Amino acid sequence: MTTTQDRVESLRGQLVAWRRHLHMNPEVGFHEHDTADFVEAELRKMPGLTVSRPTATSVLAVLKGGKPGRTLLLRADIDALPVEEENTFEFRSQRPGAMHACGHDGHTAILLGVARLLSENPGEVPGEVRMIFQHAEEIGPGGAEELVMETGLMDGVDVVTGLHLNSQLPAGMVVVKPGAFMAAPDTVHITVKGKGGHGAHPEQTVDPIAVGAQVVTNLQHVVSRHVAALDALVVSITYFQSGTTHNVIPDTAVLMGTVRTFDPELRRRAPELIERVVRGVTEAHGASYDFGYEFGYRPLINTDWVAAQLREIALETVGPEHFQEAQPTMGGEDFSAYLEKAPGAYFNVGSGSDEADSRWPHHHPRFTIDEASLETGVRMLHAAALRLTGEPGGQSGS
Ligand SMILES: [Zn+2]
Ligand SMILES: [Zn+2]
Repeated sequence: MTTTQDRVESLRGQLVAWRRHLHMNPEVGFHEHDTADFVEAELRKMPGLTVSRPTATSVLAVLKGGKPGRTLLLRADIDALPVEEENTFEFRSQRPGAMHACGHDGHTAILLGVARLLSENPGEVPGEVRMIFQHAEEIGPGGAEELVMETGLMDGVDVVTGLHLNSQLPAGMVVVKPGAFMAAPDTVHITVKGKGGHGAHPEQTVDPIAVGAQVVTNLQHVVSRHVAALDALVVSITYFQSGTTHNVIPDTAVLMGTVRTFDPELRRRAPELIERVVRGVTEAHGASYDFGYEFGYRPLINTDWVAAQLREIALETVGPEHFQEAQPTMGGEDFSAYLEKAPGAYFNVGSGSDEADSRWPHHHPRFTIDEASLETGVRMLHAAALRLTGEPGGQSGS
């Protein structure tokens, strides 16, 4: 008898080939035309799947199982980043200025592998499995939001899951946690408006660079002095642009940054906490300001029972030595859009190893994955497809 393990091992070469093809041909969010064409063509080779294009650059494959059960959504994101690749291996990006620097090439290959396994044996699947190859995770407002709001993708979906490879975890390690897993990534824009003049006569000016620097420093007090230590909040000013030359004090300084929270109430208060600091500092120095705030993806909160099922699946599939409870992260994810509509949980699979030189951080020009993690991803999502589509509780027949 062929076990799932054998079936996944026989897919190994194919998983690597898919991933390397995608790695060589990266496309950034909303431009994934060749990627979606490739995914669609591969899915059309698999019998029993209904394949469609919900949007121009996303692909959906639906498998109706042979027994009654739930409808499960499995999600892989397919977009690349505007990064110039610095890796030198043969399958490095062939497209200047674009790179799979977050591992979405791996996610796409994994979900193709799951589609292949399910399509070979549809009778073993209860319910229905929808596999969405989602565009534009890296670019707000995000492909997930578009699919949820503007297509019928989530109609009738009972449960949802998906994974992210993680270079900071050892290859093959699976981590999941119930509850708050990933933060809401919101954005702040501040223009400090001073009064320009000669660099030799600052007393005749209102120097927006000096005031902007004070704003940056004082914003750190929002975190340390206005928010309880256990309420996670990160404020990082990541952009500070001002001036044209060495002897002119400019009129304005433009600052941007990211604000990360889990708690909805703290998230709601954050703009006022930040603007109060900007107002105070600029007023004290005779400057003024413009303030803008954009709410990004929602925080990603895993449903407890789905996280518990994924934990059990991991213990059975990869074993207790390759499983850990996940730590919450301040990173953001548009997977949260699906969780607004159905219970579900998101988990990570480690992809870091010294042999593959794959411990570089995500979005780094040297980022890559240990391809052994592709098999772990397939085994996890395949087992999840069989388990989560079962009757409520997933224990039917026992
Ligand atoms: Zn990313
Ligand atoms: Zn990513």
